[in-house]
Amino acid sequence: MKTIGLIGGMSWESTVTYYQIINETVRDGLGGLHSAKILLYSVDFAEIEECQAKEEWERSGEILADAAMRLESAGADFIVICTNTMHKVVSQIQAKIRIPIVHIADATAEALLQAGITKTALLGTKYTMTQDFYKDRLVQKGISVVIPNEKEIEKVNDVIYNELCLGIVSDESREDYIRVIERLKEEGAQAVILGCTEIGLLISQSDSVLPVFDTTQIHAKAAAEKARER
Ligand code: GLU
Repeated sequence: MKTIGLIGGMSWESTVTYYQIINETVRDGLGGLHSAKILLYSVDFAEIEECQAKEEWERSGEILADAAMRLESAGADFIVICTNTMHKVVSQIQAKIRIPIVHIADATAEALLQAGITKTALLGTKYTMTQDFYKDRLVQKGISVVIPNEKEIEKVNDVIYNELCLGIVSDESREDYIRVIERLKEEGAQAVILGCTEIGLLISQSDSVLPVFDTTQIHAKAAAEKARER
């Protein structure tokens, strides 16, 4: 089995889920007492969030590239960056290491295509929803993307940073998200990507009128499966 190098802590609330799903997937696949070989570098999210807010992406890329290099030297066979947003700097990180990175949007696109989805809603941070680095990856694979309107983007983003990343899960915010998903369905979306690794803490399939594609689940399972490839 290969060793997975996780760059986590963005936020640690969702890194917990990654750790759990990866181990469950390996256990279910191999049985018995099998568990995943994982190296985790967990960053201080306050430093990363500060870079995001100041648009200092280069600096955040340096922090994450340093984490990736440490994981590579420690023996990781591949890297998993446990956040959608920070895939904005994935090329900067990849340039510093020889081992591959499992891209969260590629894994998600594959899951959507397998389900026959060609038009999807995307929820995530304001960076993921409004900038091109993430959506382009889906569009290149033939999946069109609809995002919330300006007011909804603000709400969805605020809930991520002010609640979910702090471990706060509220019924009121769940209702807000449910309404956004309902509206995006009216715009023709056939599915919704939970394109922020904490949204799965708030929204599950039973809350959504659209089929839910939870990037944390998809990415963590893809990592566990890759660890078992020869
Ligand atoms: N975990 C979130 C994501 O998947 C947001 C936190 C971050 O900005 O990294 O985008």
